[in-house]
Amino acid sequence: MDRPRITIFDTTLRDGEQSPGCSMNVQEKLRLAQQLDRLGVDVIEAGFPIASDGDFEAVQRIAATVRRPIIAGLARACTGDVDRAWQALQGAAHPRIHVFLATSDIHLKYKLRISREKCLEQAREAVRHAKSLCADVEFSPEDATRTDVPFLCQVVEAVIAAGATTVNIPDTVGYTMPEEYGRLIRTLREEVADIDKVTISTHCHNDLGLSVANSLAGVQAGARQVECTINGIGERAGNASLEEIVMAMRVRPDRYPYETAVASEHLYSSSQMLAEITRVPVQPNKAITGRNAFAHEAGIHQDGMLKNPLTYEIMTPQSVGVPDSRLVLGKHSGRHALALRCEQLGHQFERRELDEIYRRFVVLADRIKKVQDSHLLELIQDVSSGNGSNNDASSQGKKFPPAAATLPFPRAVSAAAGANANDSHPAHVSGSAGQATVSIPFTDHHSEQEDYLWGV
Ligand SMILES: [Zn+2]
Repeated sequence: MDRPRITIFDTTLRDGEQSPGCSMNVQEKLRLAQQLDRLGVDVIEAGFPIASDGDFEAVQRIAATVRRPIIAGLARACTGDVDRAWQALQGAAHPRIHVFLATSDIHLKYKLRISREKCLEQAREAVRHAKSLCADVEFSPEDATRTDVPFLCQVVEAVIAAGATTVNIPDTVGYTMPEEYGRLIRTLREEVADIDKVTISTHCHNDLGLSVANSLAGVQAGARQVECTINGIGERAGNASLEEIVMAMRVRPDRYPYETAVASEHLYSSSQMLAEITRVPVQPNKAITGRNAFAHEAGIHQDGMLKNPLTYEIMTPQSVGVPDSRLVLGKHSGRHALALRCEQLGHQFERRELDEIYRRFVVLADRIKKVQDSHLLELIQDVSSGNGSNNDASSQGKKFPPAAATLPFPRAVSAAAGANANDSHPAHVSGSAGQATVSIPFTDHHSEQEDYLWGV
């Protein structure tokens, strides 16, 4: 396997936890860290030990409990912070001290009130001190993307000489653009001595909605670590979303031929766990893990999905751990999708019965946004009892309706096309996967056009 391996550095517990409404207690952080371990991230930034006793304890507990990944603790570029981080990391199997110091003129002048010379010296000293304690040291020049480039090169070169093993280039304020960020990484690789001896890392904020695009541009330019968070939580508009980074590489290896060790089938459960712990729900249309990420409502989409999911799905829900794709029944749904859902609920109908159910379904769907299975069952019952004596055919075809209010949509194609949850979706594969078909119980839906009445 020649694809370069990308280190996934998860900072959900540090940068993510700093975002409004996302704070977690020690127990919750530990639970999430264990999930991140299952997910297969390489580095867990467990907290900022000097920030509070709670943060210190969380880092300490995670370091003692979660043994496979590297556990990082954040520190400002001063002795007290570095010592405190190191203290918290004592029990770690693989500790990392992460030192940061702002380097942009605007931060130096207004926040730190120090000169560039002082900044350079402080960065060098802090890294040297961290290195005397811990072999694995990361340095972040905060606000790197607004830092004078020659000065940034100077700082990066100094911290490498002082012993840093990873150099992270934060777009702290979410200001950069993909090709600009890529160019910055490339410049560092060209200008800085011994840069090839360290890992270059990205850390992109999402203020302009470009954090994932910027991170990927960084990787294409030579970065080999990506800092990101579950659900993209983080300061202000958040960080690059871990699940989006991982799946972009997995779905488009032709463009992003890189490997991560993330077990993508745990993405959805990780996202759900974080939402449950923080009580911050995932936005419904969130890529990869949102409730609607694999839902299809428009009639023409549903019809295509039934014939072959590859028509509208670039990755299988199973590949990211979503239990199953759902066809949302709404007013845009076609007769075909309705018939299939009825069958899943244990009801097969003759054409005339289905016509009646469809007619009523459309009226109902016009009133309520989404027709749940329970509504549909009620409607079916209504139509069936209304037919009175004409009940033979239906009772013969009818099985009992299951108790569950909703049923996952069956996907016969997944066995053929996406059997291995770890595989990327075969959307780019032609041939055998493309021929996979869903077994559709209704072959007599006479007019294709009818399915598209409310389509697109
Ligand atoms: Zn950040």
